Amino acid sequence: MPKANPRHPNFPIPGGPQLRAKGWRQEALLRLLENVLSVGEDPDNLVVYAALGKAARSWPAHRAIVKALTEMDEDQTLVIQSGKPVGLLKTHAKAPLVIMANCNIVGQWAKAEVFYELQRKGLICWGGLTAGAWQYIGSQGVIQGTYEIFMRIAERRFGGDLSGRFVLTAGLGGMGGAQPLAGRMAGAAILCVDIDAERAKKRREIGYLQEIAPDLDAALAMIDAAVKEKRALSVGLVGNAAEIYPEIARRGIVPDVVTDQTSAHDLVYGYVPKGMSLDQVKSLRDYGQGQLMAASRASIVEHVTAMLDFQKKGAEVFDNGNLIRTQAREGGVANAFDIPIFTEAYLRPLFARAIGPFRWMALSGEESDIARIDDLLLEMFPHNRIITNWIKLARQHIPFEGLPARIAWLGHGERTALARRVNELVASGELKGPVAFSRDHLDAGAMVHPNIMTERMKDGSDAIADWPLLDAMLLCSSMADLVVVHSGGGGYAGYMTSSGVTVVADGTAAADERLDHALTNDTALGVIRYADAGYDESFEEIAAKGIGHVKV
Ligand code: NAD
Repeated sequence: MPKANPRHPNFPIPGGPQLRAKGWRQEALLRLLENVLSVGEDPDNLVVYAALGKAARSWPAHRAIVKALTEMDEDQTLVIQSGKPVGLLKTHAKAPLVIMANCNIVGQWAKAEVFYELQRKGLICWGGLTAGAWQYIGSQGVIQGTYEIFMRIAERRFGGDLSGRFVLTAGLGGMGGAQPLAGRMAGAAILCVDIDAERAKKRREIGYLQEIAPDLDAALAMIDAAVKEKRALSVGLVGNAAEIYPEIARRGIVPDVVTDQTSAHDLVYGYVPKGMSLDQVKSLRDYGQGQLMAASRASIVEHVTAMLDFQKKGAEVFDNGNLIRTQAREGGVANAFDIPIFTEAYLRPLFARAIGPFRWMALSGEESDIARIDDLLLEMFPHNRIITNWIKLARQHIPFEGLPARIAWLGHGERTALARRVNELVASGELKGPVAFSRDHLDAGAMVHPNIMTERMKDGSDAIADWPLLDAMLLCSSMADLVVVHSGGGGYAGYMTSSGVTVVADGTAAADERLDHALTNDTALGVIRYADAGYDESFEEIAAKGIGHVKV
């Protein structure tokens, strides 16, 4: 039975043993589509996260997708172009059920303004990374990544954890909402600024944020007390980061760690310029785009200037993947890129081994299925410190949103081994229903983004988009259930291309074969991509795990 969803009553959380589609593979994808809306930021407008990341292009397109998933046979493939189904074609039972291409605009035309115009004409929509591919699992989707960044910083600079440290950030949206919890898990006193009081309230309601301060003075006092007591604490503050960051700097306070996760990538639908109310911004979105873009950029200039100021005074400052430095540089901040990107600064050695944000969703809707898989992880990877530490923390701290899900950074071979074992548990009835496996698009072989994922690659291959395209083709050849190629929309137009994959463990032998091929080849390509760029870790991985790398 679907479960009530107090946040969005019209979007119940799927679950239960009853199938509406002709098989579990189709039913799984239908549930994942329902799930991204049930945990989304603005499901009435099909928006899942990142300002404009949509699950489908329009409501008629959504209805047509649901109808196709419900009626299709296993030997058909549903073809989706930018959130709109365009074909239901006869293929074969080992082919993907769904293939998608979302928001891919040819190079010279891939600009925010062109995207907005195409969107206005109803010709395109942006899928974010995981929204359009129905893989979003709420704020948990980035939480381990954010936590691992904080821990890398803690290890390098603060003796192992962030207790007694002040972290300043902004953005409590779909993804940014993970920051207060990740910060608290790392032991920090973390202050999160957001212009939208509703977002802050929502994060508090779902257990990601502890307190909301009435004003900056109160927020700083709360942080100060927690720092002195070395007590982990998350505090939200309603305000504009372009005002709050410079004000904190003006007071001579230097946080230990500073970042930002506002939707700075999108100057129209994401970032809110200082001095404007949310209503003013909304009214300008359709017909005052030029004014809004100029105002957003001017605010980002102040926002990033304050971040650089903190950096000069000794804070650890990083870009958390929202293009804020790029926007600032275009606004005239010549040294915006003195701020490093999190991938290169902290996580690249993991990506070079294709260790990245793997995740799974219990299609039964039962939390006990995730608990059983947590146990399984601890049984299977007792010596993997990242995993054992993470699962213990996640169990303690992470509330479920929508379909119960878990994220864990696993690498080549590990993902396949876990998924195949889970498939056995589905077959034996130990789990209450099938499990869908997926990953973020921010994964080793899956993303090119020269200002985020592939910035300053060793061999200079930052902007080469062949890798995610190869990955998607490989995943289709490897029998994945859903395969997608996304490119950036809104402010990300022209900045990135990524691939996504979902494979359903329904307990059958066919699922075992799909999981084995798709998950293994996905990470194999990831390792190969980094080996091709010259990373030593990748060559070690190739040698240790016998990956079929062709060296030229
Ligand atoms: P979102 O649109 O759901 O939330 C953005 C939040 O920023 C909103 O709550 C909004 O009110 C707030 N905001 C906007 N302007 C502000 C301002 N000037 N001051 C204070 N608050 C402001 O977006 P999201 O899903 O949370 O993603 C945020 C950003 O992070 C996006 O750019 C997204 O692409 C990026 N992102 C990065 C990663 C990563 O791997 N590091 C992962 C996912 C998303």
